[in-house]
Amino acid sequence: AQLAEEYQRTLVTGGTGLVGSAIKDVLIDRLVNLANWRFLSSKDGDLSDPQAVDKIFSDFKPTRVIHLAAMVGGLFHNMANNLDFFRTNIAINDNVLRASYETGVKKVVSCLSTCIFPDVVQYPITETMIHQGEPHSSNFGYSYAKRMIDVQNRAIFEKYGFKYTSVIPCNVYGPNDNYHLQKSHVIPGLIHKFFLAKQKNEEAVVMGSGAPLRQFIFSKDLAKLFLWVLDNYDEVSPIILSVDEEHEVSIKTVAELIAKTLGIEQELVFDIDAADGQYKKTASNAKLRSLLPGFQFTPIEDGIKESVEWFMKNYDTARK
Ligand code: NDP
Repeated sequence: AQLAEEYQRTLVTGGTGLVGSAIKDVLIDRLVNLANWRFLSSKDGDLSDPQAVDKIFSDFKPTRVIHLAAMVGGLFHNMANNLDFFRTNIAINDNVLRASYETGVKKVVSCLSTCIFPDVVQYPITETMIHQGEPHSSNFGYSYAKRMIDVQNRAIFEKYGFKYTSVIPCNVYGPNDNYHLQKSHVIPGLIHKFFLAKQKNEEAVVMGSGAPLRQFIFSKDLAKLFLWVLDNYDEVSPIILSVDEEHEVSIKTVAELIAKTLGIEQELVFDIDAADGQYKKTASNAKLRSLLPGFQFTPIEDGIKESVEWFMKNYDTARK
């Protein structure tokens, strides 16, 4: 049985990022006392360094860990840096999981991603398919490093009996995202680019054809689901945290929503010479729906509006 909430000490690695800050916001909305929560940034220590990780664990003495920290980037950043993505993420994950079992942490929820699944796969993707084929060549370094979290969780359960688990979110977006023009995911990247295009009265350009389909989850929705997994999900095997399949949208639709929110009226330009990445990677949230049938996801129109407004309001300090 888990310790009662007031005795838990919860460490959130990557606590200052898109997902970590959304978890903090949800806890604040719920009036949770944050004294027993610690949201780490890279300034608290480089998690790819085992000694830094040991120090964090011995200082804070967590009973539970939400492990979000990772070297992350969009398609173009990944394509150029597979070696770094592989090595850094393997190191971060191994350090955090090892420090957790060595200090007797009872529950760890780590973060995988739908983009680590086999490239050639039957749709929709389900949790059981993770290891059933090669990931897309564009991000194989990141993908294999993430897949090894599941391998390590199983081995830790076998040896120590701790039920460390992982969740598999689809594409996440929201306030506090990384709005860098090159090293970002599609939604924050387009928000920043279109914002500048509008200011300079230039064409709003989308890389690729706009045809690929994606499922996008608003960061606050993912945060709520993360907290539910921490308290209620009792399996080692991963669970997909995604919007429903019928809410998959094209990049073109997303670009149009962003343009509309920013008040851009001219036609968007699609740079079809740029890579598109996987055409789709539809994931099934049937497992989540079987456990949590009533969960209401934020409509993408509302989530994009909130993200654009956040970016404009925090333009000076946003990561970009
Ligand atoms: P962000 O880039 O927003 O945040 C990354 C966090 O990790 C930051 O807090 C950062 O600290 C920290 N971090 C990175 N490298 C290190 C390091 N070497 N040592 C210590 N801390 C480090 O990421 P997201 O919130 O978007 O992602 C969280 C998790 O969700 C990741 O595991 C990612 O793979 C996964 N995910 C994300 C998706 C998405 O669309 N964003 C989709 C599916 C999965 P600092 O702020 O100080 O740099």
